[in-house]
Amino acid sequence: MLIDIHTHIQQHDPSEVDGMLQRAIDAGVSTIFAAGTTIEDSKRAIALAETYPNIYAGVGIHPADLEAPITTEDTNALDELATHDRVTVMSEIGIDHMPNSPDHHWQEEAFAAQIQIAKNHDLPIVFHVREHLDDLGRLDARTSALSILADLDAGQLGGAAHYFQGNYDYACKVLDLGFKISFAKPLLRSQELQDVAKRIPIDAIVLETDSYPQPFKKNRARWTEPKDTRQVAERVAQLKNIPLETLHNRFV
Ligand SMILES: [Zn+2]
Repeated sequence: MLIDIHTHIQQHDPSEVDGMLQRAIDAGVSTIFAAGTTIEDSKRAIALAETYPNIYAGVGIHPADLEAPITTEDTNALDELATHDRVTVMSEIGIDHMPNSPDHHWQEEAFAAQIQIAKNHDLPIVFHVREHLDDLGRLDARTSALSILADLDAGQLGGAAHYFQGNYDYACKVLDLGFKISFAKPLLRSQELQDVAKRIPIDAIVLETDSYPQPFKKNRARWTEPKDTRQVAERVAQLKNIPLETLHNRFV
């Protein structure tokens, strides 16, 4: 059975969840991780995980959702949420350098503080890194994320680089730090990602959809859902030339 290691399923209308879970199970996706993007959203992820035995929660503040520097109040709240028995991962945390994303220094502080919370509770981390060329021609989200992860020896926690985008060299740096590579639907079309998938060990690969409500897609049937983990798994199996059944998609 397959695991979707990263979704935001808690952000859907509650009336959608049963149908999505059934479609996931029909596609062989038995376990789903719901990652919180704010403290409130992390609470929603936990509430869903309390209701559904095959959903587990992640807690964290997404770098793009920071509205101010992370406070002691925030870290105390997350530290408390992380003790919940349905919380199995610190997520979503990371570094995001899109043009309108929050102050980079705030992001670095919040990422480091949340890695510390993961350490307090021995939780793996599933982290986000989004690169974008800035006005000065710099491309440094990955450098920033990798140096924080290395400085804090975060690899001891295990976890994955979520929605992996990048080439083989970058993938190797992530693996060297102790993390797995999490592929999502971009693997279906990106030659660069397919090359990475072919070259890294099968045990280094995990799968996800990063699914969240997509009202901008008028046709509801086209929204990405946890069931689509199967498409990504099929592509990995094809690239690796192994039967789908041998892909266990172990998380840590
Ligand atoms: Zn996400």
